[in-house]
Amino acid sequence: MMKYPNVPGILSMVLGSKIAQTLGLCATIVGLHWIWPDMVRVISTALSMAFCIMAFASLVSLKESQKTIFYSTLSFSCAACSIVDTLILAQWEWVMAILLGGGLGWGITRSVSMIHLPQLMAFFHALVGMATALLGLVLVALHGLFSTNIPMQTRWELAIGGIMAAITLTGSLIAGAKLHGWLKQDFSSLMPRHSLLFVTIASLLVGFMMVVWPNMWSMFALLLISGLWGAAIVLPIGGADMPVVISLLNACSGWATLGIGFSLEHPLFIVVGSIVGFSGAVLSWIMCKGMNRSLKDVVFPTPLSANISAPLAHTGHVQTLSPEDAAFVLSSASRVVIIPGYGMAAAHAQHVLQELNEKLSENGTVVHYAIHPVAGRMPGHMNVLLAEAKVPYESMLELDESNMELSQSDVVLIIGANDIVNTLSKDPSSSIYGMPIFNLEKVKTVLFIKRSMAAGYAGLDNPLFYEPNTFMVFGDGKKVCTDILKHM
Ligand code: NDP
Repeated sequence: MMKYPNVPGILSMVLGSKIAQTLGLCATIVGLHWIWPDMVRVISTALSMAFCIMAFASLVSLKESQKTIFYSTLSFSCAACSIVDTLILAQWEWVMAILLGGGLGWGITRSVSMIHLPQLMAFFHALVGMATALLGLVLVALHGLFSTNIPMQTRWELAIGGIMAAITLTGSLIAGAKLHGWLKQDFSSLMPRHSLLFVTIASLLVGFMMVVWPNMWSMFALLLISGLWGAAIVLPIGGADMPVVISLLNACSGWATLGIGFSLEHPLFIVVGSIVGFSGAVLSWIMCKGMNRSLKDVVFPTPLSANISAPLAHTGHVQTLSPEDAAFVLSSASRVVIIPGYGMAAAHAQHVLQELNEKLSENGTVVHYAIHPVAGRMPGHMNVLLAEAKVPYESMLELDESNMELSQSDVVLIIGANDIVNTLSKDPSSSIYGMPIFNLEKVKTVLFIKRSMAAGYAGLDNPLFYEPNTFMVFGDGKKVCTDILKHM
């Protein structure tokens, strides 16, 4: 019998999809623009705010948080629709720009793998910085290239927005390059002393110049010098402090949008800028607290050469186990804690790890995942990957809960993690001093899955490798977990 395509089924699937709903909503709003421009602007601004609130509201629980992406896409789509024809471009140019930008964003995010997301986020922040910097230049140009007839309040807004935009642009480019491994040197010792102080003063001076003589030259100078300021801030920072820097740059991108939003007198820029700016600042503060660091220590790190001891050489006796032996150790345990790190993401081992968890649970073993706030390469990295592997939210424990569970566990399985379990964080002469780590002192057996004795992101050796109750199971994370599973 000849088979016909199920047209109603396909149609209802397409129309029911979230992408189609988003596109449909945008098309309706843009279409209405031609008929009723002012009312549409009001409606799309109100809708954008409403979806933004719904996006935040859905963050209350991990389960609900999956809806956040959908609501924020709707919110930003409505926001984009609300600014059509309020700025310099014609309506069709706005639609083209939104489609081109949206298409590029869609294509880039589809092609980038999960482990490269942190640097992608940094490069996207750089784009926000670039866009707001260019907007600042255009706003100055609109008053005439060399004119000084810009209102005093707007001058301040442009100066603050411009400084933030340039810091976000260069700082994020450098942070992205560092996360991607393009910049590996230790700049804290390479950079001349007082260079940060010098560019800070220079930036504030050109900011002041922009207020007194607002024209294209002063705006160019402000963007250039503040760009150097952003570079000088981010270059010396590294290791465990990078997550805080990414979050700070996120906040800067919000403040840049806020400053330029005030100059544009556009409520949406002001509201979105404030939300991003202040939420980024609060997140940075929470991360600093979680890592036992002050914001001052993150932004002005001590030069390595002056204070920090060189990483230890690989010394001491290292005990190894085969995957078969590791399977035996795991099956004999009654409580197991799995600590995943960046290597689990790199090896794409989350699915097989969850199979291992299910197998152990079937045998009556109590298994939990311990999630460190800076595990992986971005906040929430491990939660996202484990959720993808359908790990129940209740079996993912945060640092404090994990430490309680670890005190009564027989075996801890550390997969692709290093810095988050590095006991050097208790050594005042180490660059990660003060970073909270999992408390493994009471655990009977520690199993480490990694490919070699190589250091983690902070570039430090890990004394835990040489402890008498630590056993290394060398190999790629996914391969080793598959082998362990085979032998169970
Ligand atoms: P680390 O980078 O400290 O360690 C990862 C370990 O995984 C390495 O030692 C590596 O050892 C191992 N590894 C790599 N690939 C594989 C693989 N295919 N299979 C098995 N093992 C592998 O990661 P952690 O998660 O412990 O710590 C995160 C670090 O990243 C912290 O220093 C944090 O500050 C930093 N950071 C975190 C961010 C965040 O927001 N979470 C953002 C930016 C930085 P080997 O090569 O021997 O296999």
